[in-house]
Amino acid sequence: MGGHTKGLAVDLIADPDDPRHGTTAGHWAHHRADVPQCDPCLIAKARYDKQRRVNDYQGKVRKVSTLGARRRIEALQAIGWTNTQIAEAAGFNDRQGLQYAKYHDQITVPTFERIATAYERLSMRVPPDSFGKSRAMAAARKNGWVPPLAWDDIDNDEAPAAAAIPPKPKPDRLALLQRADEAEQTAKQAAEEIGVSQEGLNRWCKRHGHMDLYFRLLRRDPKFNGNQYRAA
Ligand SMILES: [Zn+2]
Repeated sequence: MGGHTKGLAVDLIADPDDPRHGTTAGHWAHHRADVPQCDPCLIAKARYDKQRRVNDYQGKVRKVSTLGARRRIEALQAIGWTNTQIAEAAGFNDRQGLQYAKYHDQITVPTFERIATAYERLSMRVPPDSFGKSRAMAAARKNGWVPPLAWDDIDNDEAPAAAAIPPKPKPDRLALLQRADEAEQTAKQAAEEIGVSQEGLNRWCKRHGHMDLYFRLLRRDPKFNGNQYRAA
């Protein structure tokens, strides 16, 4: 080995008794020392590479529940961000990525991370006024989607904070009365239906120009004698 300048490492890995043979450390020692790989070290390296590929692959296809991603998308819509804007912030080429997250039970980790990043970016900003913004907010109201501040822990909360849940819109009183009328109810029944006294029903109908409706209901009351409540 005259004129050899590789130093001590050469000697050690060149020694078949070096305990590193058959390990990735051995592989790197061969490599550094420019000593041809022995079979056990080649096999160790191949096994290591394969495992790393498997790990990478599993990282890419590992799936998580969609819950957190869906809540994030819905919360962003509740403050007026559109699907298109959210998809853009998430780095999706189109809205498909978002749609997938919304309608499937599980998404891949990278997809989740993209949506979480978009949420970080957008949740504390107010989107500019636009038709899309109004439409996003209307959809959120209709579906009961809550804004970001409604969540303490958007991934793990069972439900949003109660105060943040938008109240259900009151059923349209006129629609209820019309339905009562169609069902041939009396004024008394109709008043009960909308949760007011009969006097209250009378006042409401007067105020809103529905006295015709009121009298139709009233006439069905068996006690109504036909003269008592004529409009003045
Ligand atoms: Zn070796």
